[in-house]
Amino acid sequence: MRIGVDLGGTKIEAVALGSGGEVLTRQRVPTPTQNYAGTVAAVAGLVRGLEDQARSRGSVGVGLPGAESPATGLIKNANSTWLIGKPLREDLSKALDRPVRLANDADCFALSEATDGAAAGMGTVFGVILGTGVGGGVVVGGRLVTGPNAIAGEWGHNPLPPTVPPPGGAAEDAIERPGPHCYCGRQGCIEAFLSGPGLTLDFRTHTGRTAAAAEIAMLAEGGDPEADACLGRYEERLARALATVINLLDPHAIVLGGGMSNVARLYDNVPRLWSRFVFSDTVVTRLLPPRHGDSSGVRGAAWLWPE
Ligand SMILES: [Zn+2]
Repeated sequence: MRIGVDLGGTKIEAVALGSGGEVLTRQRVPTPTQNYAGTVAAVAGLVRGLEDQARSRGSVGVGLPGAESPATGLIKNANSTWLIGKPLREDLSKALDRPVRLANDADCFALSEATDGAAAGMGTVFGVILGTGVGGGVVVGGRLVTGPNAIAGEWGHNPLPPTVPPPGGAAEDAIERPGPHCYCGRQGCIEAFLSGPGLTLDFRTHTGRTAAAAEIAMLAEGGDPEADACLGRYEERLARALATVINLLDPHAIVLGGGMSNVARLYDNVPRLWSRFVFSDTVVTRLLPPRHGDSSGVRGAAWLWPE
């Protein structure tokens, strides 16, 4: 049995998977925010609860919005800030009396979709979460790619690549360079344009209107020309940003997750646009909606123990 835990900023969700990936049981609790010891206890409590229900002991993987520094073993880059600088893996291993694996939540998403999701059986897979933030993960041959900095796939904090040929419109230049501020301290990050809040900001900048990302997608579907143009800019920017990934990794598939993955038009429009930016005469990389959706966080965490 494999247990996966998705340690989010507002809730902690856990699932127990059988050997074929079937859900045996699942539980969720609110995250004890600002409380590190409480968070460790909550994760351990969820794992024990699942094991009691399933009458079996499992391996434990945990996904979180952040990463463990390979240099120090401490959590970094977490927006659940009370985890930063803490030896979370070590403390969970002690609390649960077994080794625990940790990974970034976008890595868990990619692993889930590459293992038995939308990109099952495909050789090289890039999984991207386009939600409140933008994160990514890389899976090659069924294994999550992890590196010495624990940042593989973190392409959301690269600058948005310029369009080619260079943008002629001065107005667009002014918006994209240096671009909106990002929480990481830089300006013009991919995340600042392609997150849900990034779409909302672009809509407000061009139209003076305020709408959440899902609302903008609905307005566009209903024929609102300003919302349609806003999504058009989003698609072209996403195509540019993903083209850099395609040039680097040459993935078989890119799977989208997060709230923006619900926008159906992306799957036709973005691949049509990205060939202009990819260094190849043909581009057969597939852009796919997720199979497991919101469940990919817990499922991917469970698959951190593939053996
Ligand atoms: Zn950034």
